[in-house]
Amino acid sequence: MDIKNCDNVDVVILGAGASGLWIANNLIESGFSVKVLACGKLGEGQTIASQGIIHTGIKYVFSGGIDDFVHSLHHVPGHWNERLSGSTSPDLSAVKIISNYTHIWSDQPIEEALANVFGIEDILKGLNTDKEKINEFYHYSVEEKTIDVRSLIRELTTKVSDEIIFYKKDTLIFKKNAEGFVGKILFTSEDGVRHDFKSKYVIFSAGVENCNLVKNSLGEVIESSDSPLTMRYIKGNLPNINGHIYKDRKLLLTITSIPSVDDSLNNTWVIGGGIAEALGGIQTSKNYFYSLIKNLFDVDEKDIKLSGEYTINRSEPPDVYGRRFAEPFIFHKKNVLAVWPIKLTLVPRLASNVCNLIKQHQDIDKVIVKSRESIELDLIDRCAKAPWVTN
Ligand SMILES: Cc1cc2nc3c(=O)[nH]c(=O)nc-3n(C[C@H](O)[C@H](O)[C@H](O)COP(=O)(O)OP(=O)(O)OC[C@H]3O[C@@H](n4cnc5c(N)ncnc54)[C@H](O)[C@@H]3O)c2cc1C
Repeated sequence: MDIKNCDNVDVVILGAGASGLWIANNLIESGFSVKVLACGKLGEGQTIASQGIIHTGIKYVFSGGIDDFVHSLHHVPGHWNERLSGSTSPDLSAVKIISNYTHIWSDQPIEEALANVFGIEDILKGLNTDKEKINEFYHYSVEEKTIDVRSLIRELTTKVSDEIIFYKKDTLIFKKNAEGFVGKILFTSEDGVRHDFKSKYVIFSAGVENCNLVKNSLGEVIESSDSPLTMRYIKGNLPNINGHIYKDRKLLLTITSIPSVDDSLNNTWVIGGGIAEALGGIQTSKNYFYSLIKNLFDVDEKDIKLSGEYTINRSEPPDVYGRRFAEPFIFHKKNVLAVWPIKLTLVPRLASNVCNLIKQHQDIDKVIVKSRESIELDLIDRCAKAPWVTN
């Protein structure tokens, strides 16, 4: 076997979803040498399956009022806007925006329920309200973007493509040194070359695989809170709908509309929300679903040409007292970090927290790597396909 024994870098990242790719962008920008180990397709897992909403927190106000999570989300879209306009790196100005507004239909008005909640004015400031009820539902809209996640993956990848190595997952071995730090990472890349890496930091951004990687590298057992979501999609002659439907202050449906790649099917609605939750979700009969979309959007069953579903595990960090995490979570032990953004929306904050943490440990003298020939990654071929893309 061909042995390549020379690589010595500051940081090795395992997992090329939104978290791993964004962290790589930030670290490289700060002058660290980085390698990203990927298996399968770039962005596969939760990132490509997500609905791409850059949350302002308003969604959670409708079902639960204001908590730390709402406050945490409230200022993040500003950070996204800076990247989406290209004024701050990573430059994401080529990411496609699916919608600039999110709509909310609720059978109960939000204003009365939240009238006396402290701090609500700031959160509700951008919320537009229709005065009249439409078919038993109040209608609201808010400036909140939905992005095309595939184009996000492509943009994040473009800037770090020279540092991505596709490897065979089952060949991965971690070697600890006498102090219990991960000293070496051995693996075989897709082209059959055996690698022997020395890295000062190892970051796991592998979603549902994070805990296994922590166990394999440090021998430490941590448990994430993973829960399956069964998402639905329908395709056909459908209007552009990006928003949430609430009933009895519970989130019933979240619909995002993606222009279909296959022209004959016009639009794809990706549908999550309460109906997708396997645990504690909301059961909705097919008849009720059809009457709802008929009443609200004038969509008939005959407008739907194709429907389907996909199940995806949502990975959240180790549960603490059953509370939802308000901030991205970083597990840190020795030279290992395992990261959970909680939401795609919070990935920029996660990436900057990780970067700051590594900068603070400045016993890390940056490794200068000699530049190598640029590798043309066939990005289209390497990026994951969305689960609702059927052609
Ligand atoms: C159905 C659904 C809808 C969502 N909608 C939204 C939304 O609208 N807005 C929002 O803000 N958030 C949303 N989220 C949450 C958001 O998608 C996630 O928080 C985010 O994408 C997590 O990104 P990640 O990179 O940490 O993990 P992932 O996207 O899961 O990426 C992990 C990557 O690691 C790879 N990997 C696994 N094991 C290894 C290994 N051993 N070595 C190397 N690589 C490995 C996987 O192949 C994968 O590509 C949604 C989540 C789901 C499930």
